[in-house]
Amino acid sequence: MSSSPEEILAGLDDEQREAASTLSGPLCILAGAGTGKTRAITHRIAYGVQSGVYDPHRLLAVTFTARAAAEMRSRLTSLGAPGVQARTFHAAALRQLQYFWPVAIGGTIPQILDHKVRILAEAAKRLRLSTDRASLRDAASQIEWSKVTNLTPEGYLETPDKPELTDLDHQSFARLYQAYEDLKHDRHLIDFEDVLLLTAGILEDDERVAAQVRQQYRHFVVDEYQDVSPLQQRLLELWLGGREELCVVGDAAQTIYSFTGAKPDYLLNFRARHPQAKVVKLIRDYRSTPEVVSLANVLLGDRTREQARLKNPPVWPEPLELISQREHGPAPELTQHNDDDAEAGWIATRIAELAQEGVPLSEMAVLYRTNGQSQTFEQALSQAGISYQLRGSERFFSRAEVREAMAALRTSSLVDDDESVGEGVRAVLSSHGWSAQAPTTTGAVRERWESLAALVALADQLAAEREGFTLRDFVAELQERSAAQHAPTVEGVTLASLHSAKGLEWDAVFLAGLCEGLMPISFAQDQRAIDEERRLLYVGITRARKYLSLSSAVARHAGGRGKRTPSRFLKPLRRQLGLEEPTRKILASSGRPSPNARKRTAVCATCGEVLTSGAEIKRRRCAECPARYDEALFEALRQWRLEYSKE
Ligand code: ATP
Ligand code: MG
Repeated sequence: MSSSPEEILAGLDDEQREAASTLSGPLCILAGAGTGKTRAITHRIAYGVQSGVYDPHRLLAVTFTARAAAEMRSRLTSLGAPGVQARTFHAAALRQLQYFWPVAIGGTIPQILDHKVRILAEAAKRLRLSTDRASLRDAASQIEWSKVTNLTPEGYLETPDKPELTDLDHQSFARLYQAYEDLKHDRHLIDFEDVLLLTAGILEDDERVAAQVRQQYRHFVVDEYQDVSPLQQRLLELWLGGREELCVVGDAAQTIYSFTGAKPDYLLNFRARHPQAKVVKLIRDYRSTPEVVSLANVLLGDRTREQARLKNPPVWPEPLELISQREHGPAPELTQHNDDDAEAGWIATRIAELAQEGVPLSEMAVLYRTNGQSQTFEQALSQAGISYQLRGSERFFSRAEVREAMAALRTSSLVDDDESVGEGVRAVLSSHGWSAQAPTTTGAVRERWESLAALVALADQLAAEREGFTLRDFVAELQERSAAQHAPTVEGVTLASLHSAKGLEWDAVFLAGLCEGLMPISFAQDQRAIDEERRLLYVGITRARKYLSLSSAVARHAGGRGKRTPSRFLKPLRRQLGLEEPTRKILASSGRPSPNARKRTAVCATCGEVLTSGAEIKRRRCAECPARYDEALFEALRQWRLEYSKE
């Protein structure tokens, strides 16, 4: 059911309404988490379309993830504005590249390379560079950073402010980068960043193409603008071609993708770049209870106080204090546990209690710093019989087990075309690893089962909704959903990294593993990186609507092995909650203190465990972690790229 223009504006507060009814740019909405930024721009687009000012096909809305884009499209449809293009930068650029490639470049568009490392290994071999897999991954991240920062290999060498590599010097890296580009060219391949770089290049070089794109799109809206990279900004400017029909929305305190080249400067300096811009600030927080909001305010306020004490502090945006609009709720819980398993077990118990109280599992999330932490929570939730889904499940239809299952269902439907679904699907999927009982194991087996169980649940749901629903109908439905990347939702607790939780919200949020080494992550060595970790925690806290739990474990293993200290960020939060500092005694009670405890000077850069042996300290890695220190960063980057490439 569509809404009238008046109804669209009625769902907003005064400031949001001001933003939504300002239909010509440049417009900048600056506001903290949960203040309704995304809601305001969605209503603005719907209002513009419904009042006849915008042609829905002439507007491009850019969101940070494919999921956010899908949500925006669905909101717009329900507000009576279907047909608006809401996409990620990557998806929007890819469509343009595919369309213009034959005229602008000619021939077929190259295949998109999934992983850089294989080509990089060949490039290193050509150059006779001795590199291991870890340093190739390091180089892959650096290439990505260089490209989103618009740096060629020569430009890279000239730029003064660049991240250090662990093994390679800058000269060798630049040679490797060039060799990688050459190899890619020879093999008719392009990588993820090339999609944006080539689109930008075509728009810069080919006036006809630029004119056509500018003719197509008249209005632009960008959500999460604080995390835009220089390359994305360049593309945006090319799309605009000097016009100012642009609306950007962001919160500098939520800049968490600097490692991919993101810069909040574009948001903060919007007025300087667009002197005519109208700036609207939102301060009412509609998402979270006053208890949650006050913790978020304290966390940011603490950094502002710190600013005065630091010598040459990196720029820290003036925080936009949030004012909760919600009723009071429960006090956030801040707990400390003996080890990781105890922490995960406690979280599973609390989730079960909240579920008993009526909070749906799909309204709860466990968020952590590195994807490697998910295993412990998967284990604890499985043991407690609680279903869960790992974020990233949007790639559902690309999973091997789902593709296999779809092929098997298709074959069966050809043989037995009028089998009714539920039972037929169960029978086929049983031979592919599905059983009525969930496996108690975690990892790949569990993931496979979860995928198949989601297909069974979807079949049951559709059979209940549609009379005479056959196996063949189900196969057709799956094909349609696969084309639209419309994954069945799993009714379960979300397990997600803090990075991938951006823009989302749940009734109950469990922020786990809040200890030094994990939050802040140990490779965050300078103030700039520590600041980003603080913002990441801010993003985590502000995902909660009502229930918030912050927890840590004082040791990685039972018996006190792998001692840890609670995150520095918890101190002001503890004070705010009126909780006492845990005493040394409590910390030591988790197990036998290590005899070398006094000598501790470092923590494992992958898992955060306190290192005690000289060799470990030197490598900055505990004996149990085979991965190198950039593993967590690499994983976060990988997840981010998956997010982008989903559409
Ligand atoms: P983030 O910074 O995390 O992306 P945001 O500023 O984009 O947050 P939204 O996601 O748009 O915030 O809104 C947060 C929540 O508050 C949503 O559930 C939204 O529906 C609700 N909300 C926003 N504005 C209003 C309003 N005027 N009336 C009622 N609910 C609102
Ligand atoms: Mg938002």
